[in-house]
Amino acid sequence: MALENYLRQRRSIPSAPLLLLALGALFASTPGWSQLIPGSMDVHWNEGSPDCAKNQQAPLQVHAYNSQTFILRENLCRTFEAPFLYLLVGSAKALLVDTGDVADPKTMPLADTVASLLPGEGPAKLPLLVVHTHRHLDHRAGDAQFAKLPKVQVVGFDIDSVRSFYNLADWPNGVAQINLGDRIVDAIPTPGHNETEISFYDRNTGLFLSGDFLLPARLLIDNTRADLASAQRVAAFVKNRPVSFVLGGHIEQNSAGDLFRWESQYHPREHVLQMSKDDLLSLPAAIRSFNGFYTVRGKFTMENSIHILIASAVLAVAAIFVLSWLLVRYLRRRKLQTATQEDG
Ligand SMILES: [Zn+2]
Ligand SMILES: [Zn+2]
Repeated sequence: MALENYLRQRRSIPSAPLLLLALGALFASTPGWSQLIPGSMDVHWNEGSPDCAKNQQAPLQVHAYNSQTFILRENLCRTFEAPFLYLLVGSAKALLVDTGDVADPKTMPLADTVASLLPGEGPAKLPLLVVHTHRHLDHRAGDAQFAKLPKVQVVGFDIDSVRSFYNLADWPNGVAQINLGDRIVDAIPTPGHNETEISFYDRNTGLFLSGDFLLPARLLIDNTRADLASAQRVAAFVKNRPVSFVLGGHIEQNSAGDLFRWESQYHPREHVLQMSKDDLLSLPAAIRSFNGFYTVRGKFTMENSIHILIASAVLAVAAIFVLSWLLVRYLRRRKLQTATQEDG
């Protein structure tokens, strides 16, 4: 007993508490669920209205996921796109992902709302970095509201600005980091829906912000090969990382998984916003099954609107050609019959 006490004092034999501490330190060095800062997705998003003239809902709905993380959604009656925007607050800087579909601050007071959520007053206000998931107008129309604000940097939305900001040598391979102080956000290029698409992984909360790359809505795929490569890169990225929720840019499904009519401004019994790590991991297989026009696989509805448009145009031209040919044939026959009758 005396020898054991002596050795413990010399730290040769760790005691049970010391062993637990050592094990704790070991687990702390590998990222895991236990380390994530928790948050809540217990929110009911405003559903818009069948008659938008009577809509009384706020232009911008704000949900505090936790005290440093905010999810904002534009009112369905101000824009059928009703995009989701994300504000992540760090100790040195805040990050706004997307600026929505409405430019006019009177219709959509985005910059004022974001400013009210940032810590600090006047010159001590926390600096803000504004980035986009991609260049489509419904994700950047609010940029102008931030352009003249002090301590705000708005990253350009065109492919050259995006590539130069994230500075990846082998775009779209690789992962860039945005440092907000005590909060690191990984930026992962995910082209396919659009060539400028970026997804974001917040190491503090485990939130994966997927824009229009993965969402409870139509997956609009412009470039299948690029989209598949993105899905494979993302699956490899999240494989050994904890993901609390996957949060996209829109909701277009109801709770049964059926799509609302395109441009619908009324979403009764809407699907929840959040998707899961499993959804991210099953995306490559779904994209592999995409026929390039329209494919439904499980919960994923994949569409290439340009291909559908071209195919529709080709079908319309072919139909006109066939109808014209049938008409000419009919007229010729009639002419021939008339001539035969006259001869008879
Ligand atoms: Zn888009
Ligand atoms: Zn969008």
